[in-house]
Amino acid sequence: MSNKMCMVFKKRSRGKKKTWQVEIAKERMHILFDQADRRFKTDPDLSDRYMEIAKKISTKLNVPIPRELKRRFCRNCGAYLVYGANARQRVNSEKKYVIMTCLRCSQKKRIPYVAEKKRARKEKED
Ligand SMILES: [Zn+2]
Repeated sequence: MSNKMCMVFKKRSRGKKKTWQVEIAKERMHILFDQADRRFKTDPDLSDRYMEIAKKISTKLNVPIPRELKRRFCRNCGAYLVYGANARQRVNSEKKYVIMTCLRCSQKKRIPYVAEKKRARKEKED
């Protein structure tokens, strides 16, 4: 009995994730988002398909989608979001956050404004 229990535990524990696996997963997700961006104008359905694959990689390898990519897709319907096309962005400067709305399913996403500013600064430096 105790032996069996031990085996179950062994099977269930994921152990420490290898860094290179995480790095590869992240890189793949970046590539998928990049491709989605390129294809969006001509084939938005294909962009959504890329999002599906990115989500699958994330769940399968247990690697969260990088924060900078997360805001570019709708978690609710899986659409690749492009401002002015299928997404709307509204800045609430008073409360310091950005509301992003997916125009396909009306899902709203709140992004802290301060983080957004910091990110923009970082991009400029790069
Ligand atoms: Zn949506």
